[in-house]
Amino acid sequence: MKNLFSTKQLRVILAVFAIAVFAANVSFAQELTKANIEAAINEAYEKFKNVSEGKNADYIPALAEVNSNIFGIALVTVDGQVYEKGDINDKVSIQSISKVFTMAMVIDDLGPQAIMDKVGVDATGQVFNSITAIEQYRGKEMNPCVNPGAIATTSLVKGSNYDEKWNNIMTAFDGFAGTKLEVNQPVYVSEAETNQRNQAIAHLLFAYERMYFDPVQSTDIYTKQCAINVNAKDLSMMASTLANGGVNPVTKKSIVSAETVEHVLPVMVTAGLYDDSGIWVYKTGLPGKSGVGGGIIAVAPGKCGIAVISPPLDAAGNSVKAQYVIQYLSEKLGLNMYSIQPKK
Ligand code: GLN
Repeated sequence: MKNLFSTKQLRVILAVFAIAVFAANVSFAQELTKANIEAAINEAYEKFKNVSEGKNADYIPALAEVNSNIFGIALVTVDGQVYEKGDINDKVSIQSISKVFTMAMVIDDLGPQAIMDKVGVDATGQVFNSITAIEQYRGKEMNPCVNPGAIATTSLVKGSNYDEKWNNIMTAFDGFAGTKLEVNQPVYVSEAETNQRNQAIAHLLFAYERMYFDPVQSTDIYTKQCAINVNAKDLSMMASTLANGGVNPVTKKSIVSAETVEHVLPVMVTAGLYDDSGIWVYKTGLPGKSGVGGGIIAVAPGKCGIAVISPPLDAAGNSVKAQYVIQYLSEKLGLNMYSIQPKK
């Protein structure tokens, strides 16, 4: 019988087939399938579980007492699938991650221009509780992801008194998380007793007419908002609500508008990890936010929200393990917002 193809033709067919298989694998590795997500999370957990760099925050005494070994990872896709690994029931205080969600509330309520005019949206390039940054700009050009801008943002939360503002915060946070959250009282009390620096920040902003409610009460609401207790799933659900344009992917409730999210994510990109935000975005290509309780969230727009909890922090105040894990997941699952498939 005569051969159907010449040797040369066969080589070409094989080469085309090999390229097709390779291309399929490349795009497969970037798809958010159940198998890919589970594998990536398991790998990240194993790879980084023994990392021992960093140290718990201790400027808030209660945070020094938190178990440093807590290590939880959660990812929630925008279609509501939940993936969890490690210490998923352990809760830590949300701390600065809360700043993202009060910012979202205020942008949603007052519009994107108001936060630019009244707080600012530029990176200060300084540590999160910098007083120099306030002085340098005479209270302007802060952003809601660092303490001065965050306390000013909390002062802008809807409500004419302390209780109204606080209840609005709790309602919105419950909506983002899709569950009832609670305040970690010992952490709240511990920080309220030692937050003289934040009180100074609030008063300095007040002097520059950049506080929009009583500075003492605003600092207290801010301190309480930072003490809300969350586990990795709560945080990843909150992040996924942002990834899903403001609609909680599980409860399907709209918490803030898609337009609000459009303005929240860029502030996370420029200032979410304080003065290390540039390094973070360079490595992950994702909007992120850290807290000194040991959590970090990352938002992959239109795809998923990720959260990792591990209390030991680096010098900038960002969880060491959480940074490693999210960088790994971003690469493995092709989440980097800036990765482009060139058109040929
Ligand atoms: N409540 C903390 C503070 O104001 C939050 C800081 C943080 O998480 N970076 O100091």
